[in-house]
This record gives sequence, structure tokens and C-alpha cells, in this order.
Amino acid sequence: MRDVLREFYGFADFRENQEAIIKNILQKRDVFAVMPTGGGKSLCYQLPSKLLKGTVVVISPLISLMKDQVDAAIENGFSAAYLNSSLSVDEVYSIYRRIHAHSLELLYVAPERVAMAHFFETLRTVPIALFAVDEAHCISEWGHDFRPDYMGLSAIAVNFKDIPIAAFTATATAQVQEDIIRKLGLRDPFVVRASFDRKNLFYRVEKKIDVEKQVLRFVREHAGVPGIIYRATRDSAEVLSNFLSKNGIRALPYHAGLSAEERTRNQNAFSKDEADVIVGTIAFGMGIDKSNVRFVIHADLPKHIEGYYQETGRAGRDGEPSECVLYYTPGDAYKIRYFINQVEDEAERLTSEAKLAKMILYASANVCRRRQLLGYLGEKYKSQNCGTCDVCVGVYELRDITTDAQIIMSAISRTGQRFGRLYIIDIVLGKGTKRVTELQHDKIKTFGAGKHKGKDYWRAIFDELLVQELLVQEGDKYPVIKLSQHGKSVLFGKESVMANMRPEIRADIVQQVSRTEAGSHFEEFDHGLFERLRALRRGIADEQEVAPFIVFSDKTLHEMCRYYPTTIDQLWNINGVGQLKIDRYGDEFIKEIKGYLEMNPDIRMQYK
Ligand code: ADP
Ligand code: ZN
Repeated sequence: MRDVLREFYGFADFRENQEAIIKNILQKRDVFAVMPTGGGKSLCYQLPSKLLKGTVVVISPLISLMKDQVDAAIENGFSAAYLNSSLSVDEVYSIYRRIHAHSLELLYVAPERVAMAHFFETLRTVPIALFAVDEAHCISEWGHDFRPDYMGLSAIAVNFKDIPIAAFTATATAQVQEDIIRKLGLRDPFVVRASFDRKNLFYRVEKKIDVEKQVLRFVREHAGVPGIIYRATRDSAEVLSNFLSKNGIRALPYHAGLSAEERTRNQNAFSKDEADVIVGTIAFGMGIDKSNVRFVIHADLPKHIEGYYQETGRAGRDGEPSECVLYYTPGDAYKIRYFINQVEDEAERLTSEAKLAKMILYASANVCRRRQLLGYLGEKYKSQNCGTCDVCVGVYELRDITTDAQIIMSAISRTGQRFGRLYIIDIVLGKGTKRVTELQHDKIKTFGAGKHKGKDYWRAIFDELLVQELLVQEGDKYPVIKLSQHGKSVLFGKESVMANMRPEIRADIVQQVSRTEAGSHFEEFDHGLFERLRALRRGIADEQEVAPFIVFSDKTLHEMCRYYPTTIDQLWNINGVGQLKIDRYGDEFIKEIKGYLEMNPDIRMQYK
């Protein structure tokens, strides 16, 4: 097993659970594995094809991913192919020939193919090593993307009694698990539930103030780095994408309002590093396998943590440090609640509300983000300080904001609890607008009481009071702000208010901490060399018509940019460099690195 891992993948060690899963498959036992996105599922079913007789049949619903997966497997030295509706008749025919010749180690198919009698009968006539069911939650009605085509898969266990089935999913609930095992008819499966902790992801929440500018600033700080930005609606995705483009960012939109061709084109451009950021709705993501996504931004509040976790999971699949940022304002929660309130089915409405409440808590509570995410997925996070979220690295300061809270609440109370947020802030700031003077609110005691601080500051305090439910918002169309019971007791000085305030946005600290806390993953690398190797990789990828990360992952390039390998032996020690890649690209990369070292003689060489 280790030899195959080393030779074909260039990896020194298995990740958590991979070894146990593969051992069980080799012993022909069924497997059910829940592993997070990026956890390394594909290796678990690919590797056995080198050690077992026959073909591994991989059933996957993501047709758009098959080409990349097969390309990557071929690059690693597997004989692999896929069968799906995108192929011509001739292509299908040639793959059937390879199946009959027993020359395929890996065959990727869509679930509906398995239901076709002709295909099913073909499988019976050739040696099969394993059936691997990827995205197995699609078979469960409890999963969030149930697919009727998956129902046909129950025929496998019945018809192939001696061949193991391994089911993989990233959906963790116990209900889904039971359902999958039952529907696939798994026979006493070896069950693995990996931790969902994604150690290389840094989670943080920012107050949403002027989100387009905030996103622009973030993207500029991460210039040329691939990332995904999620928005709640098509329009806002389109607008933000245009805004970023106008400001010189290579951004493309992705949402259901675009034609299928445009969506595919944009996604491919992103895959090939031709666009740096995709601004999409949640329609974006199912078919994306890009391993070097360095950040996932949510510019609007997601509806539930399942979705949030899945979307952020698209960052850092290669294991390199990546950031997940959520821009949050309570206003977003009101918008979502407005839609939830229109749902007629009461049970459904209550479930959605409960899920939203958890999402709001995630965004507003001063509790480790990682602990909250994992807790939601049913996992208890043991460490007190995760070291890789904004709460744990202490970007916040706990402050007493009672006086400022009283200024706002007094303004609300003295104007009769009949106005919205912006109006109240105008009063606090002492802005004598037409409306304010007409209503003589420039005469009240609190008028201008908050002049010494800016508008953003008062908005932040306002949001905080809403989150803490000292203020409540009523009415959907023209919301007015009122004091809650709790709010009144603060106004009358019976209670004080504390809040975690972010002194300023300090991306520098966040990055520094995320690099050092989690050890070697977070080491620095030589950016100058990285750009050169990236360009080289890009040229090779274009020539071979594959995505760049299929040639070498970012993680592999980063390692080269730390250790400067200049011989084949040294290159062999780099994570992710297997035999086939040495043969194909070894010389080119070594030449590039040597050239770089000659131009930069000061670099002290350090070898692994
Ligand atoms: P999943 O399908 O679970 O989302 P993948 O199979 O795509 O995850 O693997 C995610 C990334 O992790 C890939 O870039 C893969 O090459 C890498 N990977 C998998 N196993 C290992 C390992 N044992 N050592 C190093 N990297 C690994
Ligand atoms: Zn934390």
C-alpha cells in the first residue's frame, strides 16, 4: 500500500482513516465512510485498483468533475476512463472495448449508467475489483441533494455478491448514514466517521458595512489568488462581479441567470486559473474540484450552517492554509426570515427558523467558530483554543459599551420608537436633516450626543444591540426599531452591556497567526519562485489541456519553493511528486529552479 502511495501519488503518509479504509477494501469488506471535503476520499478507492484484480467502478453524480478526476488519475499513472452522456458514440464504443479487454483500472460512471441493462450486463462479464459510490448522500432522501437515479444502485449488492462496495459522503448526519447503508444494502460495512475539522481553514466573521468595498479590499490583499465569493441573489452576484472587474480584478459571475454555456465557460476559466475569483450564488460549487481555492467569502448570510460548511469546504482542499470570511449584518437575517415567514408548511418553517438561528449565533457569538461548526455537525471540539479562528486569536476586544448603548436607546425612546436605524444614527450624529428638523428631533437631549464617533462605529454598536436583542426590529417594509424589555433595563442603568468589538480589521495578524499556529503547513515559501513555477505549470497544463492543479497542486509547488530541489532525488522528496510526474516534468521543473537560483545567488539552500 505504501509503495503505491509513494510511487503513484508521491505522498509519504496516509491521511487519517485512508489506510484503514483501503485495508478493508483489500479484504473485500464493504465500507461506509464519512469524510469532509478535501479529506482524501478519492485515493481510498483509486489505490486498491493497483492491488486488486479487475476494474474499480466509480459511481459519481458530478459529470462535470469526471474529466478532471480521470485526467488527474491518468497523470498519476492509472489507466482510467469515464462513461457519461457527454461522450460521442465512438468514444463510448472505444471505452467498452477497454472494459472488455480488462485494461481499465478505474472506470468513472454516472449513476444512471448503472441502471442501464446493457452496461450492467457488461459489468457481469468482466472482473470488478470494487464499486465505489461517491457523494453517496445523493441516495438518501434526507441528504440535501437527493437524486432519484441513485435508487438503481441497490441492484449492485444483490447482483455482485462477492465484490465490495465502498460508499463515501461528506454529509455527516446519522439519519443520512443509516439511510445510505440500508438503500445500498451494504453488508456489515466497516464504518468510518472522520473528523470534520479542517485544520488549514481560518474562519472569521467581519461586520458587514459596505460589503462591495470590503470584498474589494480583501481581494486586493490577496492579489492573483483564487477565491470564491458567494452572494444571496443573482443580481448581487452580477453586480459585485462587475464591480470587481471594473477595479481590475479578474472576476467572473456564476448563477442560474446565465446560460449553461456561460456558466461552463466561467467555471473552466476559474479552474484553469484564467480568472482569479468567481462571484456566484450557491448554484456554484457542486461541480468544482479546484484544489487551490485560497479563500471563500460569504458576502451575505447563508441560510444554515450545513450550506455554510459545505461552501467553505471548497477552500484549501490541497491542505494549504486558506481563509473563510463571512460578512455579517443582522439586516441579512431579517431578509432571510422574511422569506421563511412565507413558507406555508409549518414544520418546514420552524426547521428553517431554527437553522437560521444557529447561523446567526455562529456569526455573532463570541465562541470559537470552529467549535460551533463542529458542534453543529455533532462533533465535540476538544481544544480550548483552536488557534485558527478570529475569536481564538483574539482579534476581538471585550468592551463595556453601556454608555454608547444608552445614547442610541435614548434616541429611540425619545423619538417614540417609530423610526429606523439610519434615522436614529442621524440623530445620534447630530445631523440636522430636513426630516429631523421638521420633526424637531434636533431639540431632543440625545441629538448629537455621539458626534465624537463615526457612522460606522454607531452602526456597529447598533448591530451589536440587535444581536444581543436589546433592540428589536419590527415591520418588514419600513422596519422600525424598538427597545426590548432587556433594552429598557440597560437604558435605565440597571444592567450593563459588554460587546466583543473588533478594533479594526487586522488581516495581517490573522494571517500571521494562521501561518505559525498549525505548524509546517503554514510555513512561508518563496513567492518569486512560485510565480515562475506556476507559469511553467500553466504552460504544461495548456499543452495537455488539463487544469493546472492536475499537473502539480499548489501545495506541491509551495514545497518546491521552500526546499529548492535541484536533483531528481531531491524532487522525489517533495510531497505530491510521484514516479510518472518525475519522468514527465522532473527535468523541466529542476531546470526552472536552477535558473532561479542562479539569478538569486543569495538564497541559502536548505534541503529536506
Ligand atoms: P475529497 O474527495 O475527499 O474531497 P480528494 O480526494 O480530492 O478529497 O483529496 C483532496 C486533496 O488531498 C487532493 O489534492 C489529494 O491529492 C490530497 N491528498 C489525498 N490524500 C493525501 C495524502 N495521503 N497525503 C497528501 N495529500 C493527500
Ligand atoms: Zn477557534
